[in-house]
This record gives sequence, structure tokens and C-alpha cells, in this order.
Amino acid sequence: MKNFYINQKVNPKGLKENEYDAIIIGAGIGGLTCGCYLAKAGMKVLTIEQHYKPGGYCTSFKRKGFTFDAAAHSLGGLREGGPLRKIYNELGLDTKVEIIRFDPTNVVIFPEHKIHIRTDIDATISDLQENFKHEAENIEKFFKFIWNSEFANLYVQLKDKTFKDLLDMYFKNYQLKSILGVFLGNIGLPPSKVSALASAILYREFVIDGGYYPKSGMQAFSDAFAERFKEWGGEIVLGKKVEKIIVKNQSVKGVVIEGDNFIPSKIVISNCDATNTFLQLIGKEYLTAEFIRKINKFEISPSAFIVYLGLNKDYSKILKDRCGWWCFLSNNFNVEKVFSDLDRKDKPYSEDGFFCFFPSSHDSSLAPPDHEVILLLVPAKITDNNFWLENKHSLAVGLIKKAENFIPDLSNSIAVKEIATPLTLYRYTLNRNGASYGWASTPLQIDMNTMPPVTFIKGLYLVGHWVTQGIGLGGIATVAYCGKNVAKLITKSLN
Ligand SMILES: Cc1cc2nc3c(=O)[nH]c(=O)nc-3n(C[C@H](O)[C@H](O)[C@H](O)COP(=O)(O)OP(=O)(O)OC[C@H]3O[C@@H](n4cnc5c(N)ncnc54)[C@H](O)[C@@H]3O)c2cc1C
Repeated sequence: MKNFYINQKVNPKGLKENEYDAIIIGAGIGGLTCGCYLAKAGMKVLTIEQHYKPGGYCTSFKRKGFTFDAAAHSLGGLREGGPLRKIYNELGLDTKVEIIRFDPTNVVIFPEHKIHIRTDIDATISDLQENFKHEAENIEKFFKFIWNSEFANLYVQLKDKTFKDLLDMYFKNYQLKSILGVFLGNIGLPPSKVSALASAILYREFVIDGGYYPKSGMQAFSDAFAERFKEWGGEIVLGKKVEKIIVKNQSVKGVVIEGDNFIPSKIVISNCDATNTFLQLIGKEYLTAEFIRKINKFEISPSAFIVYLGLNKDYSKILKDRCGWWCFLSNNFNVEKVFSDLDRKDKPYSEDGFFCFFPSSHDSSLAPPDHEVILLLVPAKITDNNFWLENKHSLAVGLIKKAENFIPDLSNSIAVKEIATPLTLYRYTLNRNGASYGWASTPLQIDMNTMPPVTFIKGLYLVGHWVTQGIGLGGIATVAYCGKNVAKLITKSLN
């Protein structure tokens, strides 16, 4: 993509002292990326973040010498020429945060199969072929189609299909299809519901080109954006919530933050949950009944239940290939059930396996010497607030016990334990019900017109994983790409 706007200076006139060219609500990666490009273009930009640190889902926290990534735990799309690498280079983030890559990036573990996802696509294909000899040719074709196709070709072929349609086009073996469906944990929907296009992009940008990690933790990645933004003249206010977006005659006038302070700006970019942006921050009086009905009907992605463990043991001599592990105790794994289980009122989480990540195995700075950080995660939902308050501790114990089948003596090695439920994820980011990836990436909902970045209110833009760009919605690379595009739209409209 041509980088035409990067050195153009927008030249707004007559700003009052506390007035901004643009205000960004939320310092998630979408908001931060957009802010960097706008500030670089010479605009006076203010970002207001309710949390006390920038990053949204891309943050870390520290406990007793351990560093834990709160939600997002690795990056994709960072190959030379990849979408996130372009942004990283254009913003000069290489001087601020080092990116490391681990190999294998993921291992899928079933009693009868162990599949390694490697940084070399051919090695991944060979590993799958070893396990599923009858599907060898189809495996090669499937991966090469996703990896080598032009985006336009993927779009035309996959736009209206589900991932199940795509798997059925290539494969017969049920277990192989289930294994390939495991990675949909990174998008939050089962094969029969998720868009084939969004899944193909997830495969390309996160599974095949995955396994990247910012040295010192995910917070370091967000901090790099925030620092760059400030160096280019941007201002960030942390720990303040935007309560209202002020609109007059269908045009944005500014925002009101906690404490009733009005800050004027003709451009407001919301990086927050889209439902909240429209129904609370803007207010129903500016919306049509049809729009309110539509936004209330959209399906959102699920949330997660996470157990963060600081261990007083280093597993490097006991366990090989510590990276992102997808662990299952049974071969009869039904990937559809993983997600349909989330709608059970009494058990709104997945029981058929779990994801386990070992960040300190590739970045020793995250744990004291001879110690280790592990994160256990299952998809989950909020069906009833009390459920999580009442059950989170017993569920964490159960998950640790389950993990012990793969990580020996885990229960006895715990020095620090923290738990996040969907309520926690909501509290820190205000994403509705702690949704991990914005709207659910169904074929219908990923359509560009579902929730475009340019809204029907003049001067109001959306950025991040609640914005539809015709591709999938969630993930750091996707929201950064969205942030860059929104900045481009704004600077173009001003010129
Ligand atoms: C458990 C989990 C694991 C994940 N793992 C990965 C992964 O490994 N790799 C990956 O690429 N993606 C991953 N994702 C998805 C990815 O993290 C998100 O899609 C992405 O970070 C969303 O970025 P965003 O900019 O859209 O918004 P967010 O990160 O949601 O940030 C929005 C920001 O807006 C702020 N805000 C909201 N309302 C207001 C308000 N009224 N006033 C002021 N501030 C406000 C919030 O506090 C927040 O900081 C994961 C997500 C989850 C939940």
C-alpha cells in the first residue's frame, strides 16, 4: 500500500487552547495506531483512556517479579512486508521494542496426535501430512491456497462461505478438520458459523505468520506506540473515562470526561465498544430506531476465562516445545461443541480442552531466574454475573488439575496465581461482556457495511475490533491496520 500521507501536514486553523483537531476515546492498539499516524501528519490529537495504562487488551501486569500478559499474548503479521510489520516500520517502533519469534509457534496435542505449527510453512505442512497421510495432497493445497492467494481472490472465493464450507472443500477426515478448527479459538466462533474469509486471514496472519512476541511483554508493544504518539506531539490522559460525545446538528462537537469537563474537537474517534459508543456516549436521541434495532441484534464474540500462574520451577528440562499449546484429553473432540457450550447458563465456558502459553520460555525477563510464567485460557461468556463471582476459584483449580495432565506437578509449583473472568476483561476495557474480538466474525457481520469506520454523524469515526473492514475483526494486526486506515481517511478528508 502506498504510504502517501505520512509526511503530509494537515494545517488546521484557529484552534482554541484546549481544543483538539481530533480526540481519540480509548488507547487500545487501534486507537494508538490511529493517533500515531494523525500526530505524525501534524494534527493536535488527544487520547483519553479510562485504564491507568495504555493498550486495552494488549497490556501486562506484574506480581512478585512475574510479568503476565493480561489478554493478547502474541503477535502475527510481522513477516517482512506483513501488515503489522509495515506499521511497525512506518512508525519507527523498531527503536522502541524488540520483536522476537519462537518456533514452533503452536502445538496441538491430542492423545493420538501432536501437530507442530512452525515458522516454516512447509514444516507445518509436513507435520500434518505425517499425521494424516491420506490427506497429504489436500493439506498442501489448503495451506498454499491460503498463503499464496491474492487477497482479492480470497475475498471472491470465501466472502459468503463459512470455515466449515472451506474445510469440506479440501478434507474428508473428521479429526483433521477438528484440528484445523482448533485455531478458531483465536476468533471465537465454530467452523459452521465463522466466516471463511476471516478464518483464512487468521490463518495467514496469525497461524502461519504467527509466534512473534514483544520483548518484555505485550505492554512493551503498547508503550512503544504511546511513546511514539507523545513524541509526535500527541497527548494521552490516562485513568479518565469519556462519559459523553457531544453532538449538535448531527456533527461532533467534542467530548465530556469524568468530572464534567468538556473538551472541544470537530473529530472524535471511538476505539471503544461500538454499542457503548452509540447507545451511551452519543445517546439514542441521535439514532434511528432501525439503527438501534440493528446494533442490538448483532452477535458479539465470546470472552475468556484466564488463569495466570507464576511458577517456582523452570520447566525447560522437563517439557519440549513450550509455546502456545492447544491441549485436549480426548481424540473425540468436537470443535462445534467448544463454542456451543458457552451458551450454557450454568457452565458458560468450554470444558473440552484449553490453551496454555509459556511466555517466559522465549523471554526470560518475564520471570525470576529458574521460575516460569504460564497462562491457561478457555473461551467463556457472561450469562449471569454471579456465576463468575461464585465459581471462578473452583474453576481455576479444575483448569490447573486438567493442565497437570500435560504439565507435571503444576499444582505444587505455583508461587503466584491470578484469575481473569469475562467480568475482569470487561472492567479493564469496557468491551461489552468482555468480548475478546469485537463483533462475531460471521460471513454476514464482517461485511464492510455492518459497522464502517466513517459514521452517519459528521466527525465521528470508529476504530478497532468493533469496526468492519470486510476482513475479520479482532487481533492486534487487524486493529492496527484499521487504525492506519482510519487515520488515512481523516487526513484525506481534511486535505
Ligand atoms: C483473552 C484474549 C486473548 C487475545 N489474544 C490475542 C493474541 O494473542 N493476539 C492478538 O493479535 N489478539 C488477541 N486478542 C484480541 C486482541 O487483543 C483485540 O482484538 C485487540 O487488542 C483489540 O484492540 P482495540 O484497539 O480494538 O481495543 P481494546 O484493546 O479493547 O481497547 C479499547 C480501549 O478503550 C478504552 N475505553 C473504552 N471505553 C472508554 C471510555 N468511555 N473512555 C475512555 N476509554 C475507554 C478501554 O479501556 C481500552 O483501553 C485477544 C483478546 C483476548 C480478550
